[in-house]
Amino acid sequence: MRLRVLSSGSKGNVLAVRSAGGVLALIDLGLQFSDLRSRAEACGIDVSTAAGILFTHDHSDHFSSLSAFHRRHPLVPLFANGDTADSIASKTGVADGWSVFETAVPFDLADFRITPFSVSHDAADPVGFLLESGGRILFVGSDTGMATLGVRDALRRSDCAVLETNYDPVLLETSNRPEVLKQRIAGRSGHLSNDDAADLVRSVNPPRMKTLLLAHLSEECNTPSLARAAICAALDDCGRHDVRIEVLSQNEPGELVEI
Ligand SMILES: [Zn+2]
Ligand SMILES: [Zn+2]
Repeated sequence: MRLRVLSSGSKGNVLAVRSAGGVLALIDLGLQFSDLRSRAEACGIDVSTAAGILFTHDHSDHFSSLSAFHRRHPLVPLFANGDTADSIASKTGVADGWSVFETAVPFDLADFRITPFSVSHDAADPVGFLLESGGRILFVGSDTGMATLGVRDALRRSDCAVLETNYDPVLLETSNRPEVLKQRIAGRSGHLSNDDAADLVRSVNPPRMKTLLLAHLSEECNTPSLARAAICAALDDCGRHDVRIEVLSQNEPGELVEI
């Protein structure tokens, strides 16, 4: 498999994954459409050829270009569970083209085997994904308030992971965000902090893990170096020096990752 994260963060999330057989799948569509298309083109990706788009949840940073995309490419199927599909359809007016999956029930998209797993986040019915192709497994776990058993089991199986490191607890606490928003972010249905993600990596220590991509960083309450340092320390504690770490950006596509 090959992965390009086109954008990651609270202003937009889009992942492009190519299977071992060359099939393109997109995960979330959270940029403005013109940005999405230009970033994809710069990476040699033609989004109109996608075999499907998988949606994690119904927050706008994960679907904001859907209406524009669907107008231009109405035949590209849209995959989500029932509550997420209903919610995104009502927010965007995109009512057709949905293929509804059941959370925790694997399904095939060309030569991808896709397993949606439940995550704890304040959305209709949020999920992460395992994408399996050519014997390799990609974990996509963004926007989750806590590391549930399901998240841990999914991460343990993966060769490559896109894992949320949303905020540094000190920067969040000392930010001038409203108290209610701080509590939402740090709560069980909010986001994973650098420390939460580090604890998760330390305790699971995924044996096949080769690449760890740090996702959905808060621009106000985190920095790439803090996120990287927390995860590096966790991997050091596990004696793991074989894992490549990349910090994903809101503003530019990540490196091409071969899985
Ligand atoms: Zn998000
Ligand atoms: Zn969200």
